[in-house]
Amino acid sequence: MFSIAQITEDSLMESDGVGLIVWFQGCRGLCEGCQNPELHSFQGGLETDVSIFDSYDLSWVDNFVLLGGEPLDQSKGVVEVAQYAHEKGKKVWMYTGYSFEEIEQDVLNNVDVIIDGRYMKEYESNNIRYRGSSNQRVLIKINGQWEDKTNDIGLADNVFKEVKVNISKE
Ligand code: SF4
Repeated sequence: MFSIAQITEDSLMESDGVGLIVWFQGCRGLCEGCQNPELHSFQGGLETDVSIFDSYDLSWVDNFVLLGGEPLDQSKGVVEVAQYAHEKGKKVWMYTGYSFEEIEQDVLNNVDVIIDGRYMKEYESNNIRYRGSSNQRVLIKINGQWEDKTNDIGLADNVFKEVKVNISKE
């Protein structure tokens, strides 16, 4: 079981392809200038499990995108959703305020792309793909190994496709 604020369908902004966005409710991060303060509380979300996704048409979905709030403040839920997504043949992207080095192995084993790090208003930019501030990184699991692809993806749209990454589904 985990708590979510909402699910958004058919989003093209947060991942490479069509994303099903899972908004986790609650965050301990509290970055200054956070744009989702309504998601900080651990109260008021919908307590659910992965069966909630059974009612969605996933035929158009490339990626499950986990954000919030802070997905890793419900890390067991992250693993449950990621395993469900992989069973359906989808990749899993996760946005977190924690740094990659802080993420537990069970989560690393089950997600494919991580955008990590606190949002920092002083490093904010609208000109960086996927990230809110330039201190954040884009890390991709390729053939089972995590690689920092921040500089490859960097500034322009669709660079993700151009680098032809082969995301592992292990
Ligand atoms: S981790 Fe995300 S939701 Fe939490 S305060 Fe930072 S930006 Fe906001």
